[in-house]
Formats: sequence, structure tokens, C-alpha cells
Amino acid sequence: MATILVVDDAAFMRMRMSKILSEAGYEVIQAENGLDAIDKYRASKPDAVLMDITMPEMDGLTALKEIRAIDPAARIAMVTALGQQQIVLEAVKSGAKDFLVKPAEPDRVLAAVTKLCA
Ligand SMILES: [Mg+2]
Repeated sequence: MATILVVDDAAFMRMRMSKILSEAGYEVIQAENGLDAIDKYRASKPDAVLMDITMPEMDGLTALKEIRAIDPAARIAMVTALGQQQIVLEAVKSGAKDFLVKPAEPDRVLAAVTKLCA
């Protein structure tokens, strides 16, 4: 089964996403900021990444760009709050494949991950 890297500074969001994904049979790795995400990406080469935008240490947009520089084939979806359309646009230009608006319903999360891993 595919491995998904869940990146969010909020522990409850990581747990929620991890529960949705692991119940559907995915292997889940968690990271709590952009820097942590880059380390975990390098170490584990996950099949897909769900990336929060607003985080301490390094934000999701910067981490997206760094990971895409390391691995141009990286499959990353941004997880956004309302009102972040500008950042979403820049993320798509920078190689994000999809975006989810918080709090994303389980069906939407799984559909996005299925598409990312296809
Ligand atoms: Mg956040």
C-alpha cells in the first residue's frame, strides 16, 4: 500500500488525517512543519504528501518548493484554510497537484490521495 506523508503543525489535524488514511489501508508518516517534512520526505520517499500551509519553522509553500526541487516527481496536495486562494495559486504554479480545504471530509481526502497516487 502507498505511503502518505501528512504535514501539519496541529497535532489534531495530523491525527485526523492519519486516522482517515490508515483506516483506508495507507501507511502514514507525520511531520509537524516544513523542515520536518523535507527530512521525512528524503528519508522515506512517500508516494504522496498532504501539506498544510501555515506552520512554524518553515511554511508549506516553501516546503513544497524545496521538496519539488529535491524530487521533481513529488506528488503534493496542499491543505488550506479559507482565504488562502493566493497561496493556493502560487502552490499550483510551483507544482502542487491538488488542494483540500480544511476540514476536508474523509471522502475528499481519500479521493485526493487516490488521484495523487495514481
Ligand atoms: Mg497550520
